[in-house]
Amino acid sequence: MKKYDVIVVGAGVSGLLAALTLSKHGKKVLVLEKNRNIGGNCNSYMVDGFQVDTGAHAITHLHEGPLRRLMDNYFDYLPVFEDYGHYYVRTENSFTKVPSNLKDFVTFDVLPRKDRLMLSQAITKALTLSTFGVDLSGQSVYDYLPRTLSKDTCDFVDTISGFLSGRSMKETSAYRILTGSSFVRDSITQEQFGEMIGRMEPRKRQSTESILASLLPLNLHSSLQARMNRVSQPFTSLERLATNRVNYSQGYPRKGLKSLLNAIIYSLPDLVEIKTECEVTGIQVQDGKVAGVEADEAYSAEIVIYTGFSTDLPNLMRDLPSDYLENLKGIVHTKSLTIWLGLQKNLPEFNYIGSEIWFKDFAYWAMPTSNYDPSLAPKDRQLVGFSFVIDEHRSEKHEVRKAYDTIYRALPNIEQQIVMKHEQIMIPEKAAVTIDGKFADIRTPVKNLYIAGTDTDKRSMGITRASYSIIELLKILNDDGILH
Ligand SMILES: Cc1cc2nc3c(=O)[nH]c(=O)nc-3n(C[C@H](O)[C@H](O)[C@H](O)COP(=O)(O)OP(=O)(O)OC[C@H]3O[C@@H](n4cnc5c(N)ncnc54)[C@H](O)[C@@H]3O)c2cc1C
Repeated sequence: MKKYDVIVVGAGVSGLLAALTLSKHGKKVLVLEKNRNIGGNCNSYMVDGFQVDTGAHAITHLHEGPLRRLMDNYFDYLPVFEDYGHYYVRTENSFTKVPSNLKDFVTFDVLPRKDRLMLSQAITKALTLSTFGVDLSGQSVYDYLPRTLSKDTCDFVDTISGFLSGRSMKETSAYRILTGSSFVRDSITQEQFGEMIGRMEPRKRQSTESILASLLPLNLHSSLQARMNRVSQPFTSLERLATNRVNYSQGYPRKGLKSLLNAIIYSLPDLVEIKTECEVTGIQVQDGKVAGVEADEAYSAEIVIYTGFSTDLPNLMRDLPSDYLENLKGIVHTKSLTIWLGLQKNLPEFNYIGSEIWFKDFAYWAMPTSNYDPSLAPKDRQLVGFSFVIDEHRSEKHEVRKAYDTIYRALPNIEQQIVMKHEQIMIPEKAAVTIDGKFADIRTPVKNLYIAGTDTDKRSMGITRASYSIIELLKILNDDGILH
């Protein structure tokens, strides 16, 4: 039987980041993935000449956040991120930029003036409390708002809550809105990172700057660098309320989401072996310590890192303590539907860089991804992804039909321009961040069995959240004396 230092279960972004970081700390790693393709929710593929992503993605907190810290310390290749652009709101008769500070909010006439005033007071209050260290993660957005708001405003707040937590404003915490809207920023400095991880080997790879220079023409490279420098000024949360630019440090990877995946894969050293179509069906434990996993054959390792749904862990092993199992039962998931539409030409309705929100009845978040990179669509065609949070109590067929009806209602001219339709139903995060929702600990009751992924950290969203979980994992492995 082949022996590894570490077995990683799952080759999504969390599993691959775990493999990358641990192998760079000298560990021999085996990654086992049950699907034919690696990447999990972070990939792109071709449909009728269009390159679709696994859901519409904005990569957040790129300047100082956890993904930046991992890229700076472990990646040999970096994806190039395009500036994200702006968020817009579409209604039947308007198309308006989402305000990113209180000044702009005054003129945001999608909502009644009286409601805007009340909302800005609520945001200021929440941000002030948060700035003074009050923890708002147990208070719902609903609790913060006056009961006199109009239906439109309630729908709008519900939509924003839905996209940030997967649930309504009654189940979404006020803190989630502040972090999700970038008023409170995710940041881990290099010094903090160094303290968490302990001894770091000096980096041998090219610096970010020289890699950028090698990939881009010099004029583009300097303007990109200038843009990154521009957003590097530190702001406090309250200052940000007046000056915030929501697109701060958000990006879309050039050539699509798979280029983030590729940057990780190309950076993996030879110490990493990946096996696909290899489902882990059991985790072996001996004397309270992990011994290996069962898949197509048995594999043994000192350490196992599980990055599938932690709610599936009880199916892979027996004798987990009852309080541990009880906590796992409290983890909440939500389902998303993304409809990708390939359009016969570039429509004036999508003449922007960024994304749009529709908040009436069945809310969507849409991104014309080929506007960042025309190579994602055949020549002169356009690609747009529409993501919905769907009701798990209704049939998927019903939700898909309702979603198409919503798109045709929001964009009456679109139907006759469609040349490609593609639907994806997925679970975006392994634990929705609701007020009462539970999370799994990175440490498990079994020695040397750890969990990583979006169900182990409630900070931030998606890939940023997955990156936080990897940094926490590294910290815990360092604390347990097995990282170096
Ligand atoms: C519609 C949509 C929109 C999104 N938008 C954004 C966004 O704008 N910004 C953002 O940052 N993030 C976004 N996300 C979320 C982001 O894509 C995910 O959070 C991230 O990719 C999760 O990575 P992961 O590795 O933790 O999990 P996964 O991608 O779920 O990977 C887990 C992997 O483990 C494998 N696996 C599970 N069990 C086993 C087993 N027993 N044996 C072997 N393999 C196993 C699975 O097959 C899978 O490949 C979005 C996701 C969706 C679906």
